[in-house]
Amino acid sequence: MNYYGNHLTNLIEEFSRLPGIGSKSAQRLAFYVIDMPEKNVEKFAEAILAAKKNIKYCSKCQNISDSDPCYICTNSSRNNKQIMVVEDPRDMAAYEKTKNFKGKYHVLHGAISPLAGVGPQNIKIKELLERLQTDDEVEEIIIATNPNVEGEATAMYISKLLKPIGIKVTRIAHGIPVGGDIEFVDDVTLLRAFEGRREL
Ligand SMILES: [Zn+2]
Repeated sequence: MNYYGNHLTNLIEEFSRLPGIGSKSAQRLAFYVIDMPEKNVEKFAEAILAAKKNIKYCSKCQNISDSDPCYICTNSSRNNKQIMVVEDPRDMAAYEKTKNFKGKYHVLHGAISPLAGVGPQNIKIKELLERLQTDDEVEEIIIATNPNVEGEATAMYISKLLKPIGIKVTRIAHGIPVGGDIEFVDDVTLLRAFEGRREL
């Protein structure tokens, strides 16, 4: 039922299309927006449009950026010998926050998932190969895709492609989360933790 008139109903509908927003949250957000000062609503709407229209992808690493190449690819203090391959720009941001990795990145924008109809051609694997053909400084590709079925399939696929080229391919170790309890950790995680063990 259209209790609130077309304009507000449309706004509720638009919010409900967003991930993780159910109909109640959509209503709450829509009512919040109409109670906001008009200036703030304008700023909000402009930010959405500007983000959509102006965002670029770095032609080297495929990361989302305001400039091409991005600030990481153009940073001469970073090491060109290592490229960390991640599924998503947010994964790159997570590694950047650790301030531990000084190499460069390659963002796949997804992972191979036959069930979801995502094949190798649908993510940025071709771009990684092209990059490696023109860049002979790279010595190691660190595959940091997610530790799930799709992430593992993607890691295997890339590793098979790159090994014949003679580039070292490594996979990040996945293990028991800090604060985790071994008793409740699943088998795959336990096996990964064992495989990724290091000398103390
Ligand atoms: Zn870049």
